[in-house]
Amino acid sequence: MTAKKALLAGLALSTLGSVAQAAEEVNIYSYRQEFLIKPLLEAFTAETGIKANVIFSKKGLLERLEHEGANSPADVILTSDIGPLHDAVERDLVAPIDSDVIDANVPAHYRSKEDKWVGLTARSRIIYASKDRVEPGEIKTYEELADPKWKGRICTRSGKHSYNLSLIGSLIEHNGAEQAEQWLAAVKDNLARNPQGNDRAQVKAVKEGQCDLALGNTYYYGKMLTNEKEPEQVEWAKSVNLVFPNQDDRGAHMSISGAALAKHAPHPEAAIKLIEFLTSEKAQKMYAEVNFEFPVRPGIEWSGLLKEHMGEFKADEVNLGDVVKHRAEASRLVDKVGFDN
Ligand code: FE
Repeated sequence: MTAKKALLAGLALSTLGSVAQAAEEVNIYSYRQEFLIKPLLEAFTAETGIKANVIFSKKGLLERLEHEGANSPADVILTSDIGPLHDAVERDLVAPIDSDVIDANVPAHYRSKEDKWVGLTARSRIIYASKDRVEPGEIKTYEELADPKWKGRICTRSGKHSYNLSLIGSLIEHNGAEQAEQWLAAVKDNLARNPQGNDRAQVKAVKEGQCDLALGNTYYYGKMLTNEKEPEQVEWAKSVNLVFPNQDDRGAHMSISGAALAKHAPHPEAAIKLIEFLTSEKAQKMYAEVNFEFPVRPGIEWSGLLKEHMGEFKADEVNLGDVVKHRAEASRLVDKVGFDN
């Protein structure tokens, strides 16, 4: 390690675990939250003896990597969504991950075709439907959100949010840009209010009768249903049925949280060991239990809440790289139809 790198690492990276004289270490820039990542890194250090240093931040980590360039101490980038992984690739901040272990543990559709990122947890973007005002089976597909019967009945966060850009990207991939644009314009016409708030705020709006259908990621259901700090969220969750769309054709749109290897990683071997660990049975189980996400690795038992409320559903197995490549186009369509205005 150069003096500059040591200085940066020493100043900014806090060490987890208590391995006194670890021979190896790995530096992580994490957009994922501490409550989720810290126990995983502790388990990694316990298993491998590799010291894990981490910076948690909600934003600016890619900018930091870009600024640090070849002097960056970062080895691994952890993100809570596919969007920043795609950004990191576009900005030339990552190196390919060469690992047979990861290839065996993670299905190909959750990995970059060029090995530039790998999914660690999966979630679906589903329709939350009012129990009172929407019959089970009344809406079955994303495409049906465009039906005029839903006029004034749909709530969503901004079309520009990463989660919605991925969903729109999947519609571009499956149906073509022209149909995706018509769909987006029609969904806009069906909105109960201008896009605003986060995913949970839409379910709250369903509970309060402002709309009948909302778009949201699956894990928020678990987070609402078990929310002891804000018990009203339990009521929001109880007011809706979960609709996994497109079960009779391609399956529900999926996205991931994931990891990438930093282009100038000073410890590439330890970095790959960490990413491999995060795809291990042990880590995959921990992820799913703490945050109500789906393990990407097949054969891992789901947490009780997921099994009870989500059961088996058909997931879209299109390669996420083919979805994420449409993000710029998706963003352009959001502007073009004035979705957020
Ligand atoms: Fe989220």
